[in-house]
Amino acid sequence: MPELPEVQTVVTQLGQKLVGKTLIGFWSDWDRKTLPSSTAILCGIQGAVVCGTRRMGKHIVIDLSNEHSLVIHLKMTGHLLYKTNENRMSRAFTEDRYNGYIHHIFTFSDTSTLEFSDMRKFGWVRLVETSEVEQLPSISALGVDALSSQLTPTFLGELLIKRGRRTIGDFLLDQSLIAGIGNIYRSEALFLSGVRPDRLGVTLTVPEQAKLTRAIRRVLGQASRLGGMSDGDFRDTNGLPGRFEKNLFVYGRTGQACQKCDTIIQRMKMGQRSVFFCPHCQA
Ligand SMILES: [Zn+2]
Repeated sequence: MPELPEVQTVVTQLGQKLVGKTLIGFWSDWDRKTLPSSTAILCGIQGAVVCGTRRMGKHIVIDLSNEHSLVIHLKMTGHLLYKTNENRMSRAFTEDRYNGYIHHIFTFSDTSTLEFSDMRKFGWVRLVETSEVEQLPSISALGVDALSSQLTPTFLGELLIKRGRRTIGDFLLDQSLIAGIGNIYRSEALFLSGVRPDRLGVTLTVPEQAKLTRAIRRVLGQASRLGGMSDGDFRDTNGLPGRFEKNLFVYGRTGQACQKCDTIIQRMKMGQRSVFFCPHCQA
């Protein structure tokens, strides 16, 4: 499932590729996930120019010149492919099966297309007035963004006092508190800060709060710069997988030696998800 770094990768790439382009068409064979409807999206975007792109939590927002915005959520298996006449027949687009589940296509006046590939079909596309983006229920419910400057050690400390009477592993996944930390990056951030996932949030010391804040920023920032990772099927707008995998310290490494101390990495269940940690480096 795409997490913050993967979505940030898409938003950054779309900003470089789409700004200034004029939308002329929209096609979909999965109307159930187009809001208000495919026809309304087609009518609402024709002739509009892309002014900018931004990320809100895991939502991709494409702002248009007509005071409307496209809001896109990739959900489980969605990704956006940007195709031009030059790259349309590239191997990534024609041979990688994960890029072959196209359900929505935006067309630009220069014949390039933005195509939404989504094997599981949970992803959605929505056209709203730009002034209403922040009021969408799934956006207004989000806590402070994990990469924003608002997330300081002091802020985290206060949040832990108020809402930290649960494991720090659970706390980090609660998107209404801090938005953007998913299953992969919580394991990595806790490893880098030396905190076990099953510690109660309120027990973190002030130095640990500072370490964790830095670790969250470091792991999400680094992953965003490397195009995220493709745990399964994420692809960037060129149809290529992320390159962060080799930087993982603990996630998915059960039974392997810790890169810092050689202790065997362990896994525990937390809620429905697995969390990975080093019993020596994390206390
Ligand atoms: Zn270790």
